[in-house]
Amino acid sequence: MEGTKTMLIDQFKTLLGDRHVITNLDDKAPYLREWRDKYEGSAAAILKPGSVEDVVGVIKLANEHGIALVPQGGNTGLVGGQIAFDADRQFVVNLSRLNRIRDVDTDGYTMTVEAGTILANAQQAADDVDCLFPLSLGSEGSCQIGGNLSTNAGGTGVLAYGNTRDLVLGLEVVLPNGDVVNGLNKLRKNNTGYDLKNLFVGAEGTLGIITAATLKLFPKPTGQQAAFVAFSTLDETGAFFKTAKSKAGSQLTAFEIIPRIGIEFLVKHVDGARDPIETPYPWYALLEISSGQSLENASELLMEILEHGLENGAVQDGSVASSEAQRQSFWHMRHELSGCQKPEGGSIKHDVSVPVASLPEYLRETIAVSQDFIPGCRPVPFGHWGDGNIHLNFSQPINMDREAFLSHWEEMNRLMHAITLSYGGSISAEHGIGIMKRDELADTKDPASLTLMRTLKNTLDPNGIMNPGKVL
Ligand code: FAD
Repeated sequence: MEGTKTMLIDQFKTLLGDRHVITNLDDKAPYLREWRDKYEGSAAAILKPGSVEDVVGVIKLANEHGIALVPQGGNTGLVGGQIAFDADRQFVVNLSRLNRIRDVDTDGYTMTVEAGTILANAQQAADDVDCLFPLSLGSEGSCQIGGNLSTNAGGTGVLAYGNTRDLVLGLEVVLPNGDVVNGLNKLRKNNTGYDLKNLFVGAEGTLGIITAATLKLFPKPTGQQAAFVAFSTLDETGAFFKTAKSKAGSQLTAFEIIPRIGIEFLVKHVDGARDPIETPYPWYALLEISSGQSLENASELLMEILEHGLENGAVQDGSVASSEAQRQSFWHMRHELSGCQKPEGGSIKHDVSVPVASLPEYLRETIAVSQDFIPGCRPVPFGHWGDGNIHLNFSQPINMDREAFLSHWEEMNRLMHAITLSYGGSISAEHGIGIMKRDELADTKDPASLTLMRTLKNTLDPNGIMNPGKVL
């Protein structure tokens, strides 16, 4: 095997250029470790193609020699899908060099970007022409459009704009046999057979390598206003969400829940984070109103919603951003919520969704069960209330050994996921399956759907070269 590996690495070097094939152990390390330090991988080399032709060449060589490819974008995935686990037979294909913005069409509100474009750069390119690309995640400074598409990323804008799947018009994909599907188009309507792009959105690199996408842009809101509001109970949160949604409709662009402990972690660990409301309350929401008319219009609507909530007792207190800088700082706090849990030790995580109306009951039940299972563990459920998607995280009890706590990860997952499924929910709302949830998917997904997924995989990738061991 060593001889074949060396020969293959030489061929990849000829194809891509020496410096775009990384083989040194230290240089490979950042591509093989993920954000949560949960997986430490290994790979024969990291390949960095710079063009679609390079990707085709890499795939053809992989097929010829029966080795596997693990596509990778910004390496911010949270289920281990982007990590390779075989130092002899797996190569990471990192898309960072395919990062051109090919086209921005302000008349048609579209943008065509390459897969390695960092999400924040795509947002900026839209902003530069007074448009909005509404996908927004805590990892937006590192994650890439190809990764966002392959995980069907959600984030904070889903309530108004949908998830990544809803933001894409066309894709360019290199198939496992080396064919290039040129599905880039700007069409809002196109009923010419199967909607092939949706095969690759959310496929986590198991069906091919996305090299470019045509994305939807939106008019940039003229005014945006945000507020932190506080609740005594989860039922109040549910009632207030209903009020906000019914009064603002699609102008309600975010409704994110944060528990008290999340605010405490932020204040303790994030520079510049402040308690948004003087009196502590058990639950908070960050809500945002976006207006196509003006900032005044957004502020008036937000105040009307808040006053209504205060009058009918659904809201205990609120703090409206007094400036654009403060609105940004509110969002900074929200985006730092994942990171601020790290210094608190081990954290067992879930990315679940249930019907929105079930959230109060669901959270009460899961929190109670977590306390029975590991007394003293600290629930930090936060996230996208408006989408029914909660990051149901549990920080370790104070003074418990980190590894001892994390050894309960799988068992805790099983407990929480069983409750989630009993509410008609999903065990992966936005992060995907990767390697982390592969076995649970096999145990819990409808058998006919699983068979269809396997059939599609075997048809497109008969040699199993694309991201083996992930999803299925
Ligand atoms: P990677 O991690 O590199 O890859 C993810 C998957 O996509 C892998 O299976 C990989 O093989 C595949 N892939 C990557 N590029 C391609 C390609 N070009 N072609 C084919 N397959 C490819 N996610 C959310 O949905 N919502 C959030 O709010 C959110 N917040 C986050 C906050 C933080 C702090 C962090 C660290 C992560 C967060 N995530 C969130 C998870 C992560 O950022 C997303 O899943 C993101 O879409 C991954 O993009 P990436 O470029 O880093 O992909």
